[in-house]
Amino acid sequence: MRTWKRADQAFICGKCANAISAGAAMQVVTLPGITRMRIRCEACADGKAPPTLGTMVVRATPANRDAGLTSIRTMARSVNARDWKQVAAGEKK
Ligand SMILES: [Zn+2]
Repeated sequence: MRTWKRADQAFICGKCANAISAGAAMQVVTLPGITRMRIRCEACADGKAPPTLGTMVVRATPANRDAGLTSIRTMARSVNARDWKQVAAGEKK
């Protein structure tokens, strides 16, 4: 399957080895059952990029993206501390 997309990072064309800069249109060729994809620049691809491809959307990185994360130790304290093996064996706390 051949689809057009905007490069979200720099790529290299698999046919002519030219650089595809981030934000440029590129054609991605995939085959069913194969995870590896082939990337083609606009010059090497079949046809031209569709005008409906639009521009690349740049996502803003949150200033403090780790602020919402809770450490595993904090989560472990909030969970019932009984050992599952003791529970399975019927031992009481
Ligand atoms: Zn190329």
